[in-house]
Amino acid sequence: MSVLDNQPNFGLAKQRADEFVKSVPKEMFAKEAALPEKLRNLNASKSVKLRKIYQLADEFSRLMTPYIACANGCSHCCHDGVEISSLEATSISNFSGRAVRPIQKSILRTDKPYRGSPCPFLVEDSCSVYEVRPLVCRNHASYDATNTACLPAHIDEDRPMLRFGGLLNAWVEVSSGKGDPVLADIRDFFN
Ligand code: SF4
Repeated sequence: MSVLDNQPNFGLAKQRADEFVKSVPKEMFAKEAALPEKLRNLNASKSVKLRKIYQLADEFSRLMTPYIACANGCSHCCHDGVEISSLEATSISNFSGRAVRPIQKSILRTDKPYRGSPCPFLVEDSCSVYEVRPLVCRNHASYDATNTACLPAHIDEDRPMLRFGGLLNAWVEVSSGKGDPVLADIRDFFN
């Protein structure tokens, strides 16, 4: 294998991302678009609503499998910034038993201080809170044939990353309290 074999192929990745989008049944996108309103009208706790968002994200992930390089044992994306909401931090804390740092105001980081350092919940290249992992982890994918695009050296390159608008809008609404959701890196909540 040459060094070039390890370079990301974003042309191929864009093609595979397009193929994935074409393969998704229309009803799935309709379901996603309707999710924010459905959850608004649902008489349930925020944690139940968050779980419904995750369930739909996982349905998309299952359909995505033939088009992505992501597989067990790869944790490249767990070594980059991982922005989560305080609602997700509480859910991870409840699941893991680990104390969450109370954060009242979003910490929006542009200087990427956590790039290259592992998520605190990464254990032997596996997610120890997989059932309750945040939406950003569920939505991340490499459509390339290999996972090299997710290495720190390539992560800022012009890679295809699909934006699931319905899921994100629902996540923002459910994560919001009286105002916008409180967002911070997972390491801000748990270090
Ligand atoms: S929560 Fe899990 S999947 Fe997400 S970055 Fe951390 S270890 Fe990786």
